[in-house]
Amino acid sequence: MTDPAAALAEIQSRMARAAAVAGRKAEEVTLVAVSKTHPAEAIAQLIAAGQRVFGENRVQEAVVKWPALRDRYPGVSLHLIGQLQSNKADEAVELFDCIHSLDRPSLVTALARAMDKSGRQVPCFVQVNIGAEAQKGGCAIAYLPALLAEARGADLPVTGLMCVPPEGIEPAPFFALLDKLTADHGLPGRSMGMSGDFETAVMLGSTHVRVGSALFGSRLAT
Ligand SMILES: *Cc1c(COP(=O)(O)O)cnc(C)c1O
Repeated sequence: MTDPAAALAEIQSRMARAAAVAGRKAEEVTLVAVSKTHPAEAIAQLIAAGQRVFGENRVQEAVVKWPALRDRYPGVSLHLIGQLQSNKADEAVELFDCIHSLDRPSLVTALARAMDKSGRQVPCFVQVNIGAEAQKGGCAIAYLPALLAEARGADLPVTGLMCVPPEGIEPAPFFALLDKLTADHGLPGRSMGMSGDFETAVMLGSTHVRVGSALFGSRLAT
């Protein structure tokens, strides 16, 4: 069993050290604690230790776990980090404070409609398929300008770009590329870095690291 408060303190200090190396301020980087598969009690322990931003990858799971947590802990915010089906856009806009997985025109349409309907403006990251992997979600780099234009045309609040680099290969070049694409498009946010590589991501400009197993321990079977 990991002690949640100790795990959180360790991740925070490693983030701060990586930021300092790059001449950045620790406050420039938000730690998104990825709680997928972990029960509400584990999340509550991390909230008690001071963590305020959480991430889930599935709308169905979040809908079950989070409404009660939200009532109990009003200061907590919740980010969607996983693929979103267009028919779940309404639920996602209602439940989440930020969406990291905008990756196609049909989702632009669905999210714009959902935000209009609810009156809630939920900041979105456009997910980029940074390693051009066939099996991965995310918009192709070549299509990014068109997708960003569609999102702006639909008045979606796009805050930055997100990526999950390919596994088994040094992630730094992919983080550097996402950082460059983000700057080229004049966006402030970079959602990159996970348990195994968040320090590298912080050194290369990440504003949101998404850390799960290093905080909660191994993912539980679902
Ligand atoms: C699960 C997940 C994470 C966290 O992964 P860890 O390796 O457990 O830190 C980050 N981003 C996305 C998109 C995920 O699905």
